[in-house]
Amino acid sequence: MVKKICKWYNVCPMRKFYEEDKLDRKWIENYCFNGGRDCKRYEMEAKGIPHPDNMLPDGTIDETL
Ligand code: SF4
Repeated sequence: MVKKICKWYNVCPMRKFYEEDKLDRKWIENYCFNGGRDCKRYEMEAKGIPHPDNMLPDGTIDETL
């Protein structure tokens, strides 16, 4: 399967958290390497709606981030 990387991956805090070993790879695989499909961060970014850095791709807040 060819990975389709989300257009916001380079600037997304999820990438930073992942590279700092704070975020499970499943999020990156399921969302960021899936073109941002179904990602709440992606949707809010596209609509210009502010969202916290610790909001996960499914829209839940991770207080540990
Ligand atoms: S968390 Fe969402 S917006 Fe951020 S890079 Fe991954 S898919 Fe894109």
